[in-house]
Amino acid sequence: MDTTESFRGLACTDCGATFDPDHLDRCPDCGAPLAPEYDYGAVPADPAELADGSGMWRYADLLPFPVESAVTISEGDTPLVDAPRLADELDTGTVLVKDESRNPTGTVLDRGLSLAVTAVAQFGGEDPEPLAHATPGNAGQSAAAYAGRADLRSYAFVPSRAPFSNKAMINVHGGEMRVVGGRYPDALAAVSEQLATDWTSLQEFTNPYRHEGAKTVAYEVLADLDWEVPDAVVTPVGTGEVLVGLAEGFRSAVAAGWVEETPRLFAVQPEGCAPVVEAFESGAETTEAWDHPDTIVGELEIPDPAGGDLAVSALAECDGDAVAVEDESILRSAVTAAGSEGVEMGAAGGASAAGAWELADEFDADATVVLVNTESGGKTADVLRSHLMGQGI
Ligand SMILES: [Zn+2]
Repeated sequence: MDTTESFRGLACTDCGATFDPDHLDRCPDCGAPLAPEYDYGAVPADPAELADGSGMWRYADLLPFPVESAVTISEGDTPLVDAPRLADELDTGTVLVKDESRNPTGTVLDRGLSLAVTAVAQFGGEDPEPLAHATPGNAGQSAAAYAGRADLRSYAFVPSRAPFSNKAMINVHGGEMRVVGGRYPDALAAVSEQLATDWTSLQEFTNPYRHEGAKTVAYEVLADLDWEVPDAVVTPVGTGEVLVGLAEGFRSAVAAGWVEETPRLFAVQPEGCAPVVEAFESGAETTEAWDHPDTIVGELEIPDPAGGDLAVSALAECDGDAVAVEDESILRSAVTAAGSEGVEMGAAGGASAAGAWELADEFDADATVVLVNTESGGKTADVLRSHLMGQGI
């Protein structure tokens, strides 16, 4: 087993039970997600002294697996793009877009799938089980890419509404795909209903490594700001993978002694599906499933988020807040970012910018605000174009 010096194994995020690194499932005792644990004393106190590595694997000293064992397509090392016109409109100092659309398959999810597939490649043995998961679309494309790279079979269960580009590219990468009538929860149920074989789960928060990949976004943001902590980081929330990963990234940067505090974290969800916002605003510790979610943003239509409870606690720990925004505002924001800054945001990414407008009063005149663009504009080009056509453009 090839793991890093700092990695201590997996622990349950609820009951605290500990497990070996090859336990690629939830806690058998209480059902909560597992997460990696580290000895921060084994991590260089000066980030300039990290082991060599490129992309997100530059931070392998704070990941479970060393760069030599990585299944990687050079994910990470995405730019922080200055967005001066957005800063003017928000009446704040600096707005930077952490542009995760520059990853290999155009989404932030590549980070977690690099890590999760690396784990399976390590622990799966001579004849590994196929990988399987349900996804609104983006993670299916990403998983197919990484599984193909590692010569592993993968199944993606996608709802019929998943974008054509995701469906096409799952197959182009050599992945198996099942299109399930209905919405994301139907695809989720279909994995166990339809797969006759045993499989290893790539589902976020079932596989313990998915959200761990997202934490490298935090390290890169801090490094690009010369280890100055931004005032706010705004991110869209679907399953909670990205938000929980970001929070863990900032918390662990404090634990490693790289910075002294975390930035404030802000979660954005569409008004038609906002279980994390609802729970956070009401002071609840757990999210309640939404019976009738309805948003044009398929990636964010996750009515019962697997990482919902962890997302709510992450917001509380990072002095954060959560806002729900209208679909109309999300699409307008994505189009504005493309038109005025040149940054191509998919509809899910547009939620970051829409949330920032909603939150503008929270930002000081000289604040540094980071917006996480989680997906490329090409993922939802048809949705964005339809929005313009609806305005007669
Ligand atoms: Zn447990």
